[in-house]
Amino acid sequence: MEIYLDNCATTRVCHEAAAACLRVMTEDYGNPSSLHKKGMEAENILTSARRTIGKMLGCDGDCVIFTGSATESNNLAILGAAAANPRGGKTIVTTTVEHPSVAKTVEYLEEQGYTVRRVAPKPDGNFDPQDFLDAVDADTLLLTFMMVNNEMGTVLPYQAVIPALKKKYPRLMIHMDVVQGFAKYPLSVKRLDVDLLTFSGHKLYAPKGIGALYVKKGVRLKPVIHGGGQEKGLRSGTHAVQLAAGLQEALELCAKNREAFQAHYAALNQRLREGAAKLENVLVNSPENGAPHLVNLSVMGVPSEIMLHFLETKGIYVSSGSACAKGAKSSVLAAYGLPDERIKSALRVSFSKDNTPEDIDALLEALAEGIAKYRRIASL
Ligand code: PLP
Repeated sequence: MEIYLDNCATTRVCHEAAAACLRVMTEDYGNPSSLHKKGMEAENILTSARRTIGKMLGCDGDCVIFTGSATESNNLAILGAAAANPRGGKTIVTTTVEHPSVAKTVEYLEEQGYTVRRVAPKPDGNFDPQDFLDAVDADTLLLTFMMVNNEMGTVLPYQAVIPALKKKYPRLMIHMDVVQGFAKYPLSVKRLDVDLLTFSGHKLYAPKGIGALYVKKGVRLKPVIHGGGQEKGLRSGTHAVQLAAGLQEALELCAKNREAFQAHYAALNQRLREGAAKLENVLVNSPENGAPHLVNLSVMGVPSEIMLHFLETKGIYVSSGSACAKGAKSSVLAAYGLPDERIKSALRVSFSKDNTPEDIDALLEALAEGIAKYRRIASL
């Protein structure tokens, strides 16, 4: 038995995406930079994938830059915006709960002399839009923040923040990391008036190794990777055409089933919350109004890794905090104001389209067994 409940870390590739990758690798394997027919065919595959993404984001496909990951997209957005605007503002605004691919990149610019202001969540886990308005000033070059937090599921108030800031500071650049929200929430980059936007394929049933960055027309960026000039010179390197084809299939699946998938995650979420409420010493950390596809909870008194490995013996896979933290105490959960005891015992359970209510029941049963076992050991 294998029950995979770590889908915020990565997802199983859907069959449609895997089949598309195989087809491109074995049949349409040309290099889009080649001038002959094989090259043109490969170029058409990229164009078609861009069109699908453009449709989902409400933009032209040629605003989409393919990268190798969301980490790379975030680096390109932040470092690229700073490098292209040397005479622009010297302040960057972000939050205290960003993924390391944003947090560390911003820290790097801070070491280079930029002033960084970090907006923190309120004690209830939600962000106050006014705090963003207070943090930005006329010297701010870039606001970079996430749509949905990957450890807690909190949805940040981007719909209130972006129009208010754009009205006050029309030249401010705004970058969003929508890795945990893309294809889950409706999104229009034009309506939002966001300048840069990052997402990743492998969180959405596409293969690992492909991400994308939306770049609004007219926004200036400098590349981080230099070379043959692919992707408008912003991301050199031979295109992973097979991954773009896989990404397109996975995104079409997600777009077609967006509401059904969200409802499915919400039902699993509710089942887990109801079951967890009946377990001794289990506290749910994720807010009620968070994204439905993940639940962060703490099994008080049992360290995350002990419970994680106990669940693994039952064939159940969850995460302790985020996968990137690799067991290190989560600074993001601390930024959310969770007490140490809760952080040390935090588990993140995240759902996919393939999970079933029975998976949740098996998790709850295993948690109950683990709690009884480790409580007995602790009391010896
Ligand atoms: N941003 C967020 C919010 C994430 O959750 C992740 C991955 O967990 C990333 C960025 C990095 O994505 P990738 O693995 O594609 O580099």
